Amino acid sequence: MTDIFYSLESEVRSYSRSWPVEFVQASGATQTDASGTRYLDFFSGAGALNYGHNNPVVMEPLVEYLQSGAVLHSMDMMTPAKREFLETFKDVILEPRELPYKVMFPGPTGTNTVEAALKLARKHTGRQHILSFTNAFHGMTLGSLSVTGNSMKRQGAGIPLTNSSKIPYDDYFDGETADFMWLERVLEDSGSGVDKPAAIIVETVQGEGGLRAARNAWLRRLSELCTEHDILLVVDDVQAGCGRTGSFFSFEDAGIVPDIVCLSKSISGSGLPMALTLFRPELDIWSPGEHNGTFRGNNPAFVTATAALKEFWADSAFQEQLASRINQLHGRLESIALSTSGAGVRGRGFLSGLVFDDKEAAGKIASESFRTGLLVETSGPDDEVVKIMPPLTVTTEELDRGLDLLEAAIRTVTGPAVDRGTDAEAAATPANTAS
Ligand SMILES: *Cc1c(COP(=O)(O)O)cnc(C)c1O
Repeated sequence: MTDIFYSLESEVRSYSRSWPVEFVQASGATQTDASGTRYLDFFSGAGALNYGHNNPVVMEPLVEYLQSGAVLHSMDMMTPAKREFLETFKDVILEPRELPYKVMFPGPTGTNTVEAALKLARKHTGRQHILSFTNAFHGMTLGSLSVTGNSMKRQGAGIPLTNSSKIPYDDYFDGETADFMWLERVLEDSGSGVDKPAAIIVETVQGEGGLRAARNAWLRRLSELCTEHDILLVVDDVQAGCGRTGSFFSFEDAGIVPDIVCLSKSISGSGLPMALTLFRPELDIWSPGEHNGTFRGNNPAFVTATAALKEFWADSAFQEQLASRINQLHGRLESIALSTSGAGVRGRGFLSGLVFDDKEAAGKIASESFRTGLLVETSGPDDEVVKIMPPLTVTTEELDRGLDLLEAAIRTVTGPAVDRGTDAEAAATPANTAS
């Protein structure tokens, strides 16, 4: 019955290879395939489903909107749905955090917001160069790809990816080289040959690149360096934002205020495509229509986004519940890592996972998890990390059940539990983990 996917659809498809079933129904943290098999979804659309599948909180207003005869597509025209989204985003997100940002709708995907950010940074500074980090992932269009690390993805460009250089992410040298030595040196040395960049773009946790989490102190130093050298700081919060790390923006704990912020994946709250580019008002130097796009006015996405912001972010209850789920997840990940040789914990909040010395292990664990009813993906340059991204709305019981399945899959692949004693360092290096 699924023949058409194999015969007609391009070979470029990927997730459907890991999970070769037709998913027919979805609710919360569960998906059901055509044969009636249920899966716990700890992938969450790569972070596009932070509130789970078909959350009634967003589905009810969405269904009502669709049946009301209201506008679905509106380019960048004014509609009540868009107005209510902007009002809610201002009241619930920006003002309580004293963030001064203007809001741009750049087209509905993550790579669209990254492209807008890079373009704006170049326009504002008059500089071409952008610095990005080892193992960064920022999207698949040429501008975003030029600041992405993965060599397989970069080769897909087919042309040279220019006007950007890579700099080492937090702890890239395992503590052997001071983190900003290279960056400070080249910025100050007029003979370094590294053109002064318009911007530095960073993920606070590297979602696709192996779930390394930058330390708060590292992010603060990065922000200071940008200020000292008059370089714009762009935080790509496409995956880490919208609550994934425990706060709405992933940089809140670090206490930094980036010049530009990219949001997409879970901003609509429903899995509908939507993206935002936020920037300091003085950067708003666009001419009308200078950057546009047909699908910037996806009104159903505005409706679900507004509903999600009101339900989950208008007070602190959801964030407190999330904090306790994050503790539950990290407690369990650490205990699994301690009883598995060659395993360690990576990531922050609900953007976390387990890294294995054996580069084959993570892929095998993900396949075994699928066989037993758990959807988890791999991450990292060698797919060496099992990525555990339940919806933020997961129940404690679901989280336990999913982690039981994960642990069983790990035992099947790596052998019985071992006692690594109090060798906590092996399980979690400070740079890569912060719950
Ligand atoms: C997914 C992702 C993107 C790209 O988003 P698309 O919607 O796939 O274009 C960009 N940056 C980060 C950090 C991402 O995780």
